[in-house]
Amino acid sequence: MPEKTFTLSVVVPAYNEGPVLPEFHRRLSAVMDAMPCAWEVLYVNDGSTDDTLEVLYQLREQHVAIIDLSRNFGKEVALTAGLDHTKGDAVVVIDADLQDPPEVIPELIEKWQEGYDIVYARRKARDGETFFKKLSAKSFYRVIQSVSRVKIPADTGDFRLLSRRAVNALSRLREQHRFMKGLFAWIGYPQTAVYYHREPRFAGQSKWNYWLLWNFALEGITSFSTIPLKMATYAGLCTALGAFSYALFVIYKTIAYGDPVQGYPSLMVVILFLGGVQLMATGIIGEYLGRMFNETKRRPLYFIQKFESSHLHAAEDQFQPSADQASQERTV
Ligand code: UDP
Ligand code: MG
Repeated sequence: MPEKTFTLSVVVPAYNEGPVLPEFHRRLSAVMDAMPCAWEVLYVNDGSTDDTLEVLYQLREQHVAIIDLSRNFGKEVALTAGLDHTKGDAVVVIDADLQDPPEVIPELIEKWQEGYDIVYARRKARDGETFFKKLSAKSFYRVIQSVSRVKIPADTGDFRLLSRRAVNALSRLREQHRFMKGLFAWIGYPQTAVYYHREPRFAGQSKWNYWLLWNFALEGITSFSTIPLKMATYAGLCTALGAFSYALFVIYKTIAYGDPVQGYPSLMVVILFLGGVQLMATGIIGEYLGRMFNETKRRPLYFIQKFESSHLHAAEDQFQPSADQASQERTV
């Protein structure tokens, strides 16, 4: 066995992943045991309704930490809960469903050792996904690239490696609306990609449907850009200018040709059009306002029902959530 030169934490959010976890853990352990590092894996049970938690307790050994959240908080928050409790010099974030192959981890580590803080795994092909899903993903990345100053890499999930300082930076972003891909990009630091082949799910079902994906896209755009608000302003400006020229035209027509009562259809069109534009603008404002409402409550991100630590020893200078934060977030 080579000498252990660094420590690594692996964070795995799990929501109803009972059938996959034993196989996942077997493959992960095989990869990690071959690495010259001390390691731990943090499974975050995100309020699963199946036997995920029991399966996790069966898998429990010295490398395994289990965080059992008080209910389902969603993947982004589950990830955050995991990250907050990592002890390693570097942290890998990976899905439990084996779509992200653990065998890629050594490559991520190699890049980290070259000095990159964030090494994200970019997929070469999207197997097991429909044409429409691929198309919508592509358009989403195109839109978000063009409306946001933060460069969010396309074709990457959350599968990536973070250095300790990147994890510490991320842990200071406590917003409720957590578009993780955006947050990873926002913190900056040297970032690079490693390519891998994304496989179809090993078992179980994806929790995503098109409505959720649409909302996810909205989350991404509203969290990282205020351009939609500006668009409303310009749409208003354009219609006002149009209305003004049209008014001039109507005045001229009345003066030149008199005013027989006419024009019901055009009136209806204008009213409906303006009504539509106004509602849309209000809706856009509403999207932002709603998010502000949620943020201003400043609720803790999650509560933990039970936390079982791994046997990995923390490095000396590592981050601990501040006493105040920890007491807010732990209910054990
Ligand atoms: N997940 C979670 N909480 C949720 C939904 C999903 O922790 O509310 C986890 C899930 O167990 C998996 C990862 O997030 O490990 C990715 O979920 P999924 O495979 O459904 O997403 P996809 O791969 O289709 O993007
Ligand atoms: Mg998946």
